[in-house]
Amino acid sequence: MSVRYRTHTHSGFYDRYMQSRAWRRKRRRKLRRTGGRCEACGLRGRLEVHHRTYERLGHERMGDLRVVCVHHHASITRKHDQGMPLAAATDAVVTRPVVHWWDR
Ligand SMILES: [Zn+2]
Repeated sequence: MSVRYRTHTHSGFYDRYMQSRAWRRKRRRKLRRTGGRCEACGLRGRLEVHHRTYERLGHERMGDLRVVCVHHHASITRKHDQGMPLAAATDAVVTRPVVHWWDR
């Protein structure tokens, strides 16, 4: 399934979900998993919790998410905008994600 991420940002559910307590809690949990660091460069600071896939939007697994700094988030978005599927673009930037087997 290749759903472009732009499509999701325009869907009402996505916007509502991003405001929800459930997402905020999941986001915090993911940030704790990576020790509050970008999974690509290890930087602390302005971090974003990125969806590698929207397949399970609303009931994501920790393994569907990546913690990235604004710079690495922009690299993922650029690759995706150039036509690379989202998961591949994510994996090209975050090559060694902090994903435990129980998170998959
Ligand atoms: Zn980074």
